[in-house]
Amino acid sequence: MNMYADVLVEIKAKQVDKTFTYLIPTNLKDKIKVGVLVVVPFGKKQVEGYVLNIHNKKIDFEIKEIINIKNEERVLNEELIELGYFLKEETLCSLSNCISSMLPKALKAKSGNVVNKKYLSYLVLVNKDGKFNVQQQRIIDLFKNNNEILKKEAYLISESATKTLIKKGNIKEIKKEEYRYNLRVDELDKPKKLNLEQQNAVDKISSYFNTSKTILLHGVTGSGKTEIYMNLIEKVLKEKKTALVLVPEISLTPQLILRFNKRFPKLIAVLHSHLSDGERFDEWRKIEKGECQIVIGARSAVFAPLKNIGIIILDEEHSDSYKQENNPKYHARKVAIKRSLYHNCPVILGSATPSLDSMARALKKRYEYISINKRASGADLPNISLVDMSEEAKARHNILSRELEYKIIERLNKKEQIVLLLNRRGHSTIITCANCGFTYRCPYCDITLTYHKTNKHLRCHYCGYTKYVDDVCPSCHEKSLNYYGLGTEKLEEYLKEVFPTAKIVRMDADSTTNKGFYEKIINDFQEGKYDILLGTQMVSKGLDFPKVSLVGIINADASLNIPEYKSNERSFALLTQASGRAGRSNIKGEVIIQTYNIMHPILKCVLNHNYQAYFNYEMKIRKTLKYPPYYFLVQIKLKSRDFNLVSNEIKKVKNYLENNISKDSIVLGPSPANPFLINGIYNYEILVKYRIDDKLINTLKELDKIYTIMPKISLDIDLSY
Ligand code: ADP
Ligand code: ZN
Repeated sequence: MNMYADVLVEIKAKQVDKTFTYLIPTNLKDKIKVGVLVVVPFGKKQVEGYVLNIHNKKIDFEIKEIINIKNEERVLNEELIELGYFLKEETLCSLSNCISSMLPKALKAKSGNVVNKKYLSYLVLVNKDGKFNVQQQRIIDLFKNNNEILKKEAYLISESATKTLIKKGNIKEIKKEEYRYNLRVDELDKPKKLNLEQQNAVDKISSYFNTSKTILLHGVTGSGKTEIYMNLIEKVLKEKKTALVLVPEISLTPQLILRFNKRFPKLIAVLHSHLSDGERFDEWRKIEKGECQIVIGARSAVFAPLKNIGIIILDEEHSDSYKQENNPKYHARKVAIKRSLYHNCPVILGSATPSLDSMARALKKRYEYISINKRASGADLPNISLVDMSEEAKARHNILSRELEYKIIERLNKKEQIVLLLNRRGHSTIITCANCGFTYRCPYCDITLTYHKTNKHLRCHYCGYTKYVDDVCPSCHEKSLNYYGLGTEKLEEYLKEVFPTAKIVRMDADSTTNKGFYEKIINDFQEGKYDILLGTQMVSKGLDFPKVSLVGIINADASLNIPEYKSNERSFALLTQASGRAGRSNIKGEVIIQTYNIMHPILKCVLNHNYQAYFNYEMKIRKTLKYPPYYFLVQIKLKSRDFNLVSNEIKKVKNYLENNISKDSIVLGPSPANPFLINGIYNYEILVKYRIDDKLINTLKELDKIYTIMPKISLDIDLSY
């Protein structure tokens, strides 16, 4: 009987998004299973593809044969294939785009990228009798206490003697796979005795085991959520099930991994962006083979091939990093909930600052809600105060207010630590000539260039364009350039001037480019090698430093003033999380927030640790302005290098939408996206707000088809904007 495979081929053209049927040749019949990668003829080429289905339906037209199998181990299981189709529905991207974004690079169907398994050579003893010279005997003696030894060790004695022994048949070489990433376990941690609130949370959540309930765990910073997660995981493991733990990339600190690893030695696989392709390939296969029961990872780890999942945890569930900004634009929270239905297991959404969306669902009883209002250590939440920077600027204190400066000196004297947040990297953001008015701008994007003093160059934070700069104005050739705007580099420079004896370290995307730097800064700060840690939002997340007693927010307005409907939500979370780094242990914590908007309602809520007030305020705005969670929002972007083309087409898109979707839906725009020009490409956007619209998805699919075929222009749809 002939067997056939439906294969999803990997070819760039978006139009070809369907499977093709191939005959399975007799010699491959045993090997080809659903989920393996195969090589098939396609036109005149050979391409790779995923086998999504196998069947014996009679086919009466001539059909090509599968050429070969690429990997005997399958890369997709039934659940992942189902998730691929789910993603396609959620994002309107092609199935092959969805499936390949779920997989580590080494397992994607493609040509050329070869990541191999790593093997180590060992030697085993076959026959210890014979006549040996001194070196040969020493090698034979290595087996007295070991059944097998590394070939490298024998080579240390003598390479030629080793080879002779192999030839004579006294010893034999075997190869064993060696995983490239292995967590070491130096010490073990016992579980902490949970306090009453923690125990209640654990009990309540465990009562939802073996159901697909989503539970919002709203616990203030330092309330011991991680401890709760570990306790739940222990219970899940006892039931012989597995656990998936997602955290934002930025909180995937060595601190956190160490904490889990000490508690669950040898059971953990880690997936994050600092792994090499080889390491990720190995971690993935450890999970697939069932060698690890717990996966900790960032967004894309939501696709980890765990079987028999007993709990899924999203820590810091409000984090933007759970949303993928490239295609397919999926949200890990939705994928997690989808998986929970498959596995019949609960999803825990943990946060000190739940997303508006999750809180709204909890209020509607769609999610279970559990809150914890006290810190686990018994410490109080920090005292927060606002400083009016317009007053300070008059006194020529526009970087550090007098109050913050004074408090820093106070902590330095007490040998306590300080964290300062400034959400803008680089040195200065605007360079202008005082003589002729010239300003450095990116030639490809419509933004000003940021000055990075460390290597004396200007950089565009959108496209990466760089330019070396000297002291003279390129326009009038006078030495009259002024540097405005405050970035982390300038702040560091300023702090070193004002506190010459303090030890200061900066953490931002520029100071952590090298692998390991991030880890080193955190470890060194933890060990007290620095007094002040300053940085971008990197310093606000998940870090637990007991000696930090002061947190300073240099410019709270930076995030509040971003023209985006989510800016209040993001600001509240950022400021609350950053504040949460202060006073986590036995020293009282204090937070100073510097702002030019002293009356801003969001700042008031941060000040009072009042999530509820913030929630009510923001929900009212969202309701009035018809934004999520009251309305769904779709962002449609049209992009082209050709200005005339894109500005004409965007009007057509608007017309098409208005004529083909529900009259109750609202079409906003077109307007230039922010920024309008990126890397030489013009960007327009249209927003659609809707509640129920049966026609919308098909209309968007039609638009997508039109612009997929049209040259020199591309359409980008974000269904969960
Ligand atoms: P969160 O994840 O909610 O920010 P953590 O789990 O990091 O909080 O806990 C904050 C601090 O309190 C940590 O240093 C942790 O070791 C400690 N802690 C948590 N639970 C307990 C407990 N039951 N008893 C004592 N200390 C605890
Ligand atoms: Zn640029």
